[in-house]
Amino acid sequence: MAKPYPYFVSLDEAINLCQKTEIKLESESIPISESLNRVVSNEIYSKINDPGFDNSAMDGFAVMHSDTLSPPTQLSIIGSSMAGTTTIQKIVSGQAVRIMTGAPIPAGADSIIPIEDCTVLGNEVTLNKPSRPNFIRKQGENFSINQIIFTPGEIMSPEKISLCAAAGISTISVFKKLKIAVISTGDELKSLDENLKFGQIYESNSYGLSALVDIYGHEATRFTNVVDNLVILRETLNEASKNHDCIITSGGVSMGDKDYVRILMEQEGDIKFWRVKMRPGSPPIFGLWNDKPIFGLPGNPVSSHVVFRAIVGKWLTSLTNSKDINTKYTYAILDEDIKTQEGFTTFRRVELFSKDNSTFARLKSHQGSGNIAGIAMSDGLTVIEPDQLGRKGDVCKIILL
Ligand code: AMP
Ligand code: MG
Repeated sequence: MAKPYPYFVSLDEAINLCQKTEIKLESESIPISESLNRVVSNEIYSKINDPGFDNSAMDGFAVMHSDTLSPPTQLSIIGSSMAGTTTIQKIVSGQAVRIMTGAPIPAGADSIIPIEDCTVLGNEVTLNKPSRPNFIRKQGENFSINQIIFTPGEIMSPEKISLCAAAGISTISVFKKLKIAVISTGDELKSLDENLKFGQIYESNSYGLSALVDIYGHEATRFTNVVDNLVILRETLNEASKNHDCIITSGGVSMGDKDYVRILMEQEGDIKFWRVKMRPGSPPIFGLWNDKPIFGLPGNPVSSHVVFRAIVGKWLTSLTNSKDINTKYTYAILDEDIKTQEGFTTFRRVELFSKDNSTFARLKSHQGSGNIAGIAMSDGLTVIEPDQLGRKGDVCKIILL
């Protein structure tokens, strides 16, 4: 009997189905020093011109270019202009002002000659070359007062934080972080402060998944591991849905008898899709639990990371209309055939290396989806599209890790 929800969908379909479930994010105002990875929610306008005044890009002398056309030229030094000075000097033909990087250009000067191209003797400077007009940074050439520097959706980076400060902006409006519950399921999982008995493993997924939530600018709550028990899982999901915007689980979504996340969602949840044509990571389930979006990620550690990057990250960035800046791509030539499956998107763990001025990708370690060391030590993940074969010599898109 056909499933009453989309079953075994392509990765693109999965991403589209997730995007139909939206969450409206509220805004808050925060200091720029706390804004790393946060998503801008309002337009941000510069408060000043940058530069605020014409200034020198070099240490040297400010001169009139027409004086310097037939080197060597001798000029008299009439003063200095230092960074931070609040007065403007003035020169006429035959004169030069010693000037430092960032210092205001004297009136009458139209060019700079770097100190390296000069010989100084007392109050005289000899210019061994013509001066250079392009060593002047012009008022407002970077951005001007009231110019929009960011639009909603921009994700704050270290460079953008500096740009805000340069523009005189100390606080910005950002979307409030989503509160995301991260819940691991499995009888075999033990916390790091416990001793392992035979058959048990350390729970590791919730740490990496929470770190992924963090770099996407949201707030993760790591729950204590949930054993494979329908009643306890139901209680935990109910609890999580009360004070979180979204739930991410790991484990328990495959075909096994104890895959209770899937079983519970089938019985009591609202499933939007189950299973995706991707390798690794085909078991994910997505839907609503008590009207809150729930991503049921596979338990296999590599799969949980890959599915987060391929699906959850895309959904999070779509909510704020942002670019997925955490997924950076490059292209590399495959150094060997990669195992693919028709209709599936294939994410293999690769190492990148250079040869003959080209970048190549080769498989790194063994590709088992339980091998977290394999992905942790890789340079990237292949993105072999459903209609591609992944043959040696093919140019392949790579997600940089
Ligand atoms: P499952 O998806 O529950 O069938 O689990 C698949 C595999 O992933 C099993 O080998 C589990 O032991 C392992 N696994 C499940 N959850 C975690 C976790 N949170 N941390 C590390 N390994 C896990
Ligand atoms: Mg399990």
